[in-house]
This record gives sequence, C-alpha cells and structure tokens, in this order.
Amino acid sequence: MGERPTIVIAGAGIGGLTAALSVADAGFDAVIVERSVELLEIGAGIQLSPNAGRVLAALGLDDAIAATATEPVAITVRSGSTGASLLSIPVAAFAARYGFPYRVIHRADLQTVLAAAVRRRTDIRLILGARIDDVLARDDGLFIRIRRADGNEVLTAGGIVGADGVWSETRARIAGSHGAMPTGRTAWRTVIPIDSAPASLANDRVGLWLGPRAHLVHYPVAHGAAVNVVAIVEEAFDKPGWAARADHRFVAERFADWCPEVRALVSAPTPWQKFAINVVDPSGPWVDGRTALLGDAAHAMVPFLAQGAAMAIEDAAVLGQALAARPDDVPAALALYAAGRKPRVAQVWKAARRTGDHYHQGGLMASARDFILRTAGPNLVLGRNDWIYRWEAGQA
Ligand SMILES: Cc1cc2nc3c(=O)[nH]c(=O)nc-3n(C[C@H](O)[C@H](O)[C@H](O)COP(=O)(O)OP(=O)(O)OC[C@H]3O[C@@H](n4cnc5c(N)ncnc54)[C@H](O)[C@@H]3O)c2cc1C
Repeated sequence: MGERPTIVIAGAGIGGLTAALSVADAGFDAVIVERSVELLEIGAGIQLSPNAGRVLAALGLDDAIAATATEPVAITVRSGSTGASLLSIPVAAFAARYGFPYRVIHRADLQTVLAAAVRRRTDIRLILGARIDDVLARDDGLFIRIRRADGNEVLTAGGIVGADGVWSETRARIAGSHGAMPTGRTAWRTVIPIDSAPASLANDRVGLWLGPRAHLVHYPVAHGAAVNVVAIVEEAFDKPGWAARADHRFVAERFADWCPEVRALVSAPTPWQKFAINVVDPSGPWVDGRTALLGDAAHAMVPFLAQGAAMAIEDAAVLGQALAARPDDVPAALALYAAGRKPRVAQVWKAARRTGDHYHQGGLMASARDFILRTAGPNLVLGRNDWIYRWEAGQA
C-alpha cells in the first residue's frame, strides 16, 4: 500500500475538528483550513447526547469533556402560558439506558477540547486565518491553493472535506448542491450569571417551555455558574452569522403573555444575540469526486432535537471508517461515507422539523400535545428517541 494522501478539511468547527481526529485515526494526514484567525469564543450551549458522547469517547476525549461539561439533574417540559409541569426526565436515565450520559457544554468549551486534541497530534495541521482559494483536480489527486494573510500555499491532497458550516463555500464545488434555506425562525440567546438568574430557575435542570409559535430552552453551563437561555421565535430576519446584536426588549415583548418565570428569564438585561435559523436539504449531493461535505455544510437542521452538532460528530466517525475501509481510493471512500450517512441524517433532519412544529402548536393541538406529554412519562418519551441515542459508528 502506498503512502496515504492528505485530506484537507475546510472549517475548524465541531465537525471539522472531529473529522480531522477521525481521519488521522484512519491513518491519513489532515490539514484543517479555518477562515477565522482564532477559534471564536462565540456560540451558546450545545447539548451532547449519548450518540455524540460515544464518538467523542472513542476518540479519547471523554474525560476532557466531562471536566468542562455539566450533567444536569433533569429535563423538565412546561407549559409556557401556565408554567404547569408536563414532563420531567431524570438525566441519569440517559446513562442507564444508553451507556453514555446526556451533557450540556458551552460551544467554545467543546471546540477548545477538540482543538487541544488536534494540536497534540503531529499528523494534523491547523491553519487559522486561511481559506481554500483554488482547486486543480487531476486523476491522481488535487492541487489546492490556500490563501493566508501572509501569502499563498499550495498543497497536494487526496480529497477535500467541506466542514465550513451552513453558509459553506465548499458546497459550490459540488455539482447540483442546494444552498441554505431560511426557516422564518430566529434563535435569541443570552447567558445569565447564576447570581442574576431568577431564583426559581437557578438550578441544575434543563427547562423547555412550550407555547404558540415560540419556545424557550435554558440550561446550566460553566459548571452551573451561568444559565444559557435560547428563545426560538417566528421572525422575518435572515442575515447570515451567529451573533447579530439583538435588543432584548423585542424578546421581552414577544413573551409578555407567558408565565412569570419565563417573563423573568427574557427580561434579563444581559447582552442578547440572535441568529436566523437556516437549513440545508440533506437530500442534495454531498460528494463530487474528491470533494465531500460534512456537518452543517451538508445538512444543517433546525435545532429542536439538539442534534446539529451530534450529526456533525457522527459524520466525522463515519468518514474515518470509510477512509479506513478504502484507503487507496479516496473518491470511493467519500462515496461510501455519504451513502452511510444520508439515510440517518435525513431521518433526524425530518424529526427535528416535526419536533419544532409540535413545540409551536397552539389551541386544541397544544392541549392534545400537553395531555400526551403529561401521561406518557419519561420512559415512553425516551423510548421514542432510542433510534437517535443508541447509534454507534459501526452501524453505518
Ligand atoms: C461561531 C459559531 C457560533 C455558533 N453558535 C451556535 C449556537 O449558539 N447554537 C447552535 O445551535 N448552533 C450554533 N452554531 C452552529 C453549531 O455549532 C453547528 O450547527 C454544529 O456544531 C455543526 O458544526 P459544523 O462544524 O458543521 O459547522 P460550524 O460549527 O458552523 O463550523 C464551521 C466552521 O467553518 C469555518 N468556515 C466557514 N467558512 C469557511 C471557509 N470558507 N473556509 C474555512 N473555514 C470556514 C467557520 O469559521 C467555522 O469555524 C454556531 C456555529 C459557529 C461557527
């Protein structure tokens, strides 16, 4: 077997960093080309479900993640209008049922753990402040010109993986690919220091509050030192980016007729940011010869099942497996990766969209939903999601 070619990965987000580790474990050198000059400290919390935790543990990262993540006590679902409790799932049930816990972590903390693992490896190079400028394809590989602030560099590589997010530039290199689509919903978010959080919410629970055309999620981050709050509303706003400045009076007004606990949360005078929720149809092509897409670039989904980062992490594991299975034929390995991932991702993508529609119901439909949640109990609700959380890389 000849020397394995380098795989160039565009983007050092959760997907790109995990992919580099997985690709290197498969015996390939990886070069990550990240547009930002530093890994950004922005982004709110990420929920790490057992299917994602399993992949990260296989990469040897479980201890580092456990040290920075929080394992809440319970997930509680409540009516946004009355505050009545509809369902409470003890979080210990996740580890008992799936062998891995359910954790919440700040996006920047997860990125830091992954980046530290990347930097420890000699077979991965991380280039910040750079982007892929031009690609010349030959039968036996690619010449890739990388533009950096301090000059250009040309690399030879066996393939490119576009892990450059929902507004991916790499996607344009895939014939027939679909662009990002707005959903008409925005996510408003803030992080409230625990001392300033409303007393009734200053605890170690994930709270989900449901109401017509909106919902709100909060959970502890930074080992319980702060509460991450995300409010999803229907709103005509479609600027790309993750951190548009936002006037919290809008969100306070939007939730003015909700119960007092929610009103207290959305009145927090901490800085608020918002982003437009965009999606990418996962049925579009992910691979074209030696170029493939991964994570949000391939299949950005609505965040209502909290599976966006988890799907990027799963993608990375399967990409590594595919390259290990076809080390001498990168295009075949990339095709194998896409074929292994598309059916599952499409299923999760659709389930996330349906979940959002349930959350935002009003009137009789909302009463029926609340009745089902009150009577179902945690085991039945978790059981409905077994297919998401039980996933293991070897299944693909
Ligand atoms: C700054 C930021 C904040 C976020 N905040 C939230 C949040 O609060 N809530 C939430 O649910 N999701 C958030 N996300 C999205 C969430 O992290 C992803 O849905 C999920 O982790 C899947 O990750 P990904 O690696 O596919 O894409 P991303 O996490 O979007 O990572 C893409 C990476 O590619 C880089 N990049 C983009 N274009 C290029 C290019 N042309 N060349 C090289 N590099 C490029 C970006 O700088 C980024 O580092 C955020 C993403 C980012 C980048």
